[in-house]
Amino acid sequence: MFDDLRDLYQEVILDHGRKPRNFRRLENPSLQARGDNPMCGDRMQLDLAMGPDGRILDAAFEGKGCAISMASASLMTETVKGKSPEEAKALGACFRDLAMSGTCPDCGEALAEEMERLQVLGGVAEYPSRVKCATLAWHTLNAALEGGQKEASSE
Ligand code: ZN
Repeated sequence: MFDDLRDLYQEVILDHGRKPRNFRRLENPSLQARGDNPMCGDRMQLDLAMGPDGRILDAAFEGKGCAISMASASLMTETVKGKSPEEAKALGACFRDLAMSGTCPDCGEALAEEMERLQVLGGVAEYPSRVKCATLAWHTLNAALEGGQKEASSE
């Protein structure tokens, strides 16, 4: 990766880490889940509001953790709004590939735009201990979509 691109990615992560988007609770969430990454001490509570069309109308989180975990949750809540649960889960699976390997060769055209936004976190692949920080938000999202209130661990 070029150094200037790496710097840009780091800036985006720090910005989202310091000022996470959608950092709040929803008043009447349709689905909720808690996420916990004991390896690093990252914790979050995710609220989802589902629209009448079955798509994710709003997503918000609160929590405490390292800049990577907060930035990832911030980007995740921004990216999944308007998605169906199936699309959101597919995106999460692609994101896990990205976080583990640094690239996602099989993510396909349909998710290309979203994956480009999430690419800023691809750098964690070089730091295996931080992969769980990056994927925690997506594990928590899956837990919420699969019925809420279950505690997601970052395995
Ligand atoms: Zn962390």
